[in-house]
Amino acid sequence: MPAPNVLFLAIDSLRADAIFGNHIETPNIDSFASAGASFTQCVSTTTSTTPSFSSMLTGCYPPKHGVRGLQGYRLRSDLTTWAQAFSEAGYNTHAEVTGPLLPETGILRGFDDARHRQGYKVPFFNWRDEVVERMHSYVDPWFMLLHIWEVHRPYRAPPDFTKRWDRSGYEAAVAATDEWLKPVFDACSDNTIVVITGDHGEDYPDTPMEQKVLRAARKARGKFKLGKWFPWLDKKLSGLVVGHGFALYEHLVRVPLIIAGPGVSHGSYSQQVRHVDLFPTIADLCGVQVPGGIDGRSLKPIIDGQSLPDEPAYMEAVGVKLEGNRIEGVRTEDWKLLKTGSNRPQLFKLDGSTGPDEKRNVYGKFPEVARPLEEFLAGVRAGEVVAESGMTEEEEATVEQHLRDLGYL
Ligand SMILES: [Zn+2]
Repeated sequence: MPAPNVLFLAIDSLRADAIFGNHIETPNIDSFASAGASFTQCVSTTTSTTPSFSSMLTGCYPPKHGVRGLQGYRLRSDLTTWAQAFSEAGYNTHAEVTGPLLPETGILRGFDDARHRQGYKVPFFNWRDEVVERMHSYVDPWFMLLHIWEVHRPYRAPPDFTKRWDRSGYEAAVAATDEWLKPVFDACSDNTIVVITGDHGEDYPDTPMEQKVLRAARKARGKFKLGKWFPWLDKKLSGLVVGHGFALYEHLVRVPLIIAGPGVSHGSYSQQVRHVDLFPTIADLCGVQVPGGIDGRSLKPIIDGQSLPDEPAYMEAVGVKLEGNRIEGVRTEDWKLLKTGSNRPQLFKLDGSTGPDEKRNVYGKFPEVARPLEEFLAGVRAGEVVAESGMTEEEEATVEQHLRDLGYL
């Protein structure tokens, strides 16, 4: 069997329950879940796009890869990326990305052909047929990263594409995205490993009251130029308005993970897995060597029916650029510990049977649980590299303008 092609589809802001819950029609994505491996407890490393992709594409946590926000960071230059490793192994590597994943961030390093489109301005238009046409000209074996913005806030879906900010708008966007992707899936031969995930989850207003609060927050940010006069309040409201990036709640870090294709038998796995495991797993399935010293590990043993010991997941919420105010966290299947600066940590019990309880801080009650989690955090932090920027003023300005267009600033 020749080396398989790889389609890595990352749907921005795709929550785990959008695919693994049964309330949204997603027959095309579901067909991969019923043929391949579903990981129902996959957690993203951060809740902001660029740092999250940096982790997926390097297998490293942010302290190691250095991308700690959407603005002002460039991927550490001496790390081998997924695209570089596959390129060295003889793959043709293609990236079709959007949103803040600009070449200036360094995360497109190693792709033979990397295209950034402003697809977020016109979701569901223009880009798909061109991408499908290009896919037909790809030379085997190929690796393609396809990042799409169709589920990102504000939610827009056919038939009228009106901007929406609520739960039903989100669900309509997910269903339309599934349908819209069919020709992309059809362009893949049987010898293609298809990987589907979200870069992070999403928080949407669920009740009329929450919708009112969001509307008021959007107005206040726009009208009063809060970023200039009250940056702390602006940061608070940004979380509400953007829908992700400023917290590590379960619906923000839980994402679907589906891997289907040659060498992957059908199975559904509830063990916690992490985005940093993606690169080593797909490399393992394709016989590509991964660099040493990364934070992730191959999940192929799980796919092959063997067991792997549980591993904690490191995560952080960095907003656009929270610097020292970022929230760092560690999650296991049963617990989540969060820490902001020098504040007292928070510990939450994640009770799978009745839904996660992220309201009651039980840090003082379970020191024997908290201690090893804090030690794990300290260990990840110990591997911290000084973030690289190295961007020219012009590059910084390009990134800033894009973030403005996307509503982050
Ligand atoms: Zn994102």
